[in-house]
Amino acid sequence: MGQHILDSTFDAIFGLNLAWEINYCNKAGCDLLGYSATELIGRNYKEFFKDCENQGFENIVETLLFNESLKPIRTDYINKEKKRRAASIQYSPIKDQNGKISGISSIVRLVSQYEKANSKAQALLETAPDAMVIVNKAGEIVLINAQTEKLFGYKKEELLGKEVELLIPDKFLKYHRANRSKYTSKPKTRNMGQGMELYGKKKSGKNFPVEISLSPLETEEGMLVSAAIRDITKRKKVEKELEKYNQQLQNKNKELEQFAYIASHDLQEPLRNVLSFTGLLKENYSTELDEMGLKFMYFITEATTRMSLLIKGLLDYSRIGSNTKLESVDCNVVLAMVQDDFDPLIKETNAVIKVSELPIIWGYEVEIKLLFQNLIGNAIKFRDPNRPAEISVSASKEEGDWKFCVSDNGIGISPEYKEKIFIIYQRLHAGKDYEGTGIGLAHCRKIVDLHGGKIWMESELGKGSKFYFTIHEITSA
Ligand code: ADP
Repeated sequence: MGQHILDSTFDAIFGLNLAWEINYCNKAGCDLLGYSATELIGRNYKEFFKDCENQGFENIVETLLFNESLKPIRTDYINKEKKRRAASIQYSPIKDQNGKISGISSIVRLVSQYEKANSKAQALLETAPDAMVIVNKAGEIVLINAQTEKLFGYKKEELLGKEVELLIPDKFLKYHRANRSKYTSKPKTRNMGQGMELYGKKKSGKNFPVEISLSPLETEEGMLVSAAIRDITKRKKVEKELEKYNQQLQNKNKELEQFAYIASHDLQEPLRNVLSFTGLLKENYSTELDEMGLKFMYFITEATTRMSLLIKGLLDYSRIGSNTKLESVDCNVVLAMVQDDFDPLIKETNAVIKVSELPIIWGYEVEIKLLFQNLIGNAIKFRDPNRPAEISVSASKEEGDWKFCVSDNGIGISPEYKEKIFIIYQRLHAGKDYEGTGIGLAHCRKIVDLHGGKIWMESELGKGSKFYFTIHEITSA
C-alpha cells in the first residue's frame, strides 16, 4: 500500500544514506532521471544532482543532524540524456527506531520554465525605479514589484491574479478595459494615453496622477504587457505652481509696462513746458542775464533735453510689441534700409558694413529694423578711434532657430558687463565720450524676447564685440 502511494505521486522521491548513496527511488524519481530503480540503487545521488545554490551537500547533512529544518532548495540535475533541468528539492531526515538520523529523503519537484523565468523577471522588476505591473492577456496581474506595493498600498497577494482595473479610478474603468483589448491586439512599446491625464487608484481609494509606459512581453505562456507606472503628483504640483507664478509674473510685467507707458507719456507734458519756457527765457531775457545766468540757462536746457530723450526712450521701450502685426520680414531689405539711414554717418566715419545673405523671417518688421539699427548704430558709435569701423552681419540656422551675428572691430566690452549692458539706462561710458541714453540694448533685448529668442554678447576689450541673437520661428495663427 505504502509503495503504491509513493509510486503514484508526481514528486520524485529518493531515499539516501548519509554518504548520499541512493537506496530507494520511487517511479517518478526513475522517470525524472531516466533510469530504472535497479540501475539507480547503490549509485551516488551527487552524480545526478548538482551542489545546491548556497548549501553544499555537507551543509545539508549538518543542518539535518542538528535537527534543523531546511527550506526547499533550488538546484539542477542531469538526466540519462545528459540534459540539465531545474528542480526544487526538499531534504528531510530519515530516523531509525531510536530516533537517530540514519539517512536523508529527497523529494524533487520540477521547476517549470515559466517559474524560472518568473523568478528572473521578479529580480529584474525589483531593480526598476518605477512601480512595475505585468498583466496577462486577460488583464490579470501576474507579477508586480515592491514599488507597486508601496505606491498603491496593496500587498502582493492582494494583487496577483486580480484584474488590473483594481488599480484604476472608477471613472476610467470602461475606457481602460476597451483600450486594454485594443492594445493587446496591436501591442508596441509606448506611453499610455498620450495627451491625456492619467490617474491611478490606491487601496485607500485615493486617486493620484501617473505616467505609464507600456511594453509587450512575448512569453511561452502568451503575450504579457508590462506597465511602468510613475507617480507624478509632485511634478504636477510644481507645474501648477510654476503656471501660477508665470501668470503672476505676466500680470506684473503688464502692469509695469503700463506704468512705464503712462509715466513716460505724462512726464513729457510738463517737460515740454520747461523746455519751451527756458526757450522763451533765452529769447526774451538773455540780454538781462550775466555770464553766470547764461551758463545756468545752458545747463537747464542741456539737462531737460537729455531728460526728454530718456523719457522718449522709455516711452518707445514700453511701446515695443504693441500695435504691430506679425508678417514675413526680409532681413536683407531691412538691412538695406538701415544702411541707408546710416549713410551720412557711414561716409563720415569711413565705416564698412558687410552683410551676408540673410533669411526671411516671420516677425515684427518695425521692431526688427529697430534691433538692427541699435546694434549697427552702437557698432559705429563705439568704434576704435585708431581704425575705421568694420561691421559684419550674418545669420545661420541653428536647431530650427535663426542665429544672427552683428560683429565689429570696435573698443570692445569687458566680460563683467556682459549682462549689465542689456539693462535699461545702463551705460559704460560718460555722455561726454559717447552720446546715448543707455536704452538701445534694452530695446534689443525686449524685441528679441518678443520673437521668442535670446540675445547675448561676446567681446574682447580693445578688439571688438559680437552681438548674437536668435529668432524663434513664430508660426502664424
Ligand atoms: P547707449 O548706446 O545709448 O549707451 P546701449 O543700451 O545701446 O546704450 O548700450 C549700453 C552700453 O553698452 C553702451 O553705453 C556701451 O558702453 C556698451 N556697448 C553697446 N554696444 C557696444 C559695442 N558695439 N561696442 C562696445 N560697447 C558697446
